[in-house]
Amino acid sequence: MTEKKRNWKPATQLVHEGTLRSGFGEMSEAMFLTQGYHYASAEQAEARFKGEEPGFIYSRYSNPTVDMFEKRMCALEGAEDARATASGMAAVAAAVLCGLKAGDHIVAARALFGSCRWVVETLAPKYGIACTIVDGRDIANWEKAVRPETKLFFLESPTNPTLEVVDVAAVARLANAAGARLVVDNVFATPLFQKPLELGAHVVVYSATKHIDGQGRCLGGVILSDKKWIEENLHDYFRHTGPSMSPFNAWVLLKGLETLPLRIRQQTESAGRIADVLADHSRVARVIYPGRADHPQAEIVRKQMSGGSTLICFDIEGGKRSAFAFQNALEIVLMSNNLGDAKSLITHPATTTHKNLTDEARAELGIGPGTVRLSVGLEDTGDLIDDIVQALDRA
Ligand SMILES: *Cc1c(COP(=O)(O)O)cnc(C)c1O
Repeated sequence: MTEKKRNWKPATQLVHEGTLRSGFGEMSEAMFLTQGYHYASAEQAEARFKGEEPGFIYSRYSNPTVDMFEKRMCALEGAEDARATASGMAAVAAAVLCGLKAGDHIVAARALFGSCRWVVETLAPKYGIACTIVDGRDIANWEKAVRPETKLFFLESPTNPTLEVVDVAAVARLANAAGARLVVDNVFATPLFQKPLELGAHVVVYSATKHIDGQGRCLGGVILSDKKWIEENLHDYFRHTGPSMSPFNAWVLLKGLETLPLRIRQQTESAGRIADVLADHSRVARVIYPGRADHPQAEIVRKQMSGGSTLICFDIEGGKRSAFAFQNALEIVLMSNNLGDAKSLITHPATTTHKNLTDEARAELGIGPGTVRLSVGLEDTGDLIDDIVQALDRA
């Protein structure tokens, strides 16, 4: 089923690509909850271990349900190969660290998901891998940070939580010139609205926990790149350290992929309407939304993204007091640091996801005491607008 080259559009790929059917001809993707695999003969076991016969050996290495998820993600992303992981952070850590050794150097954008920043800034240096953190919005900062031993560039775009964007193609050109790899964390853009590999990036990572599940159930992650890079950098690491995705989670995420375009389209359309309402509200000091013409880097958004975002970042007049009052007054939108769920979620970064940063570091990232991040879900747009407006009026 997966061998033929086809020109399917994403919505078709997300329903059919990668499906492996067992002898029962089941319609829905099967959940292969098995640790090991049975060999018909000693010769077959030998051939599998030698890599002379295709097939499964052990679920830490690979599993049919996980394989379906990886193949479907490859088709969507236009990647040659993929490895699915137990969480988004397992994917980021492997994508960043597996290609490096002591003495190498990383250049990373400063606006990163908190744990991603810990991996490059705190974990990597423990093993002799240096890291320079830059304001990724200005390409000159990337260029200045490059050293002869620079081997990896790392960024996310749009960023968490202030939805800044980084010019992926420009950073990719610098990475190529420096002989380094560019790894892009594409969670906020989703695989539908931004194609880092087409923009010149070498490796793409996702937390599948977010939009790919989309219904708040399972953790998961995936790394996508060319076959050679995965073979040389990830293959042995995955076999021998075991960050593998569980088949149960792969099954849930496969079913999530079927409805991904419908959900993302609806959530983005809702987010665009809510962003406009927020921008017109007297209690809102600032709205950052990648679909609006007043986004600080609207030009780059237009150049590299084919859609807006399911997330909105905004500042409420009156600082922390008003931001707390606003959150507490919401009736439909729930407080949670997660995102990409069918349920609309609100976060106050300064006191939760970004509480460990100094006031100064937060200010650099554009996170103030009145900043909140809204992840727009699948509820009725009118109901969401009513809820947000009544909460702002009470804040
Ligand atoms: C959530 C997230 C991660 C980490 O993913 P987990 O599945 O929670 O481990 C990494 N990067 C970004 C941008 C995220 O939003």
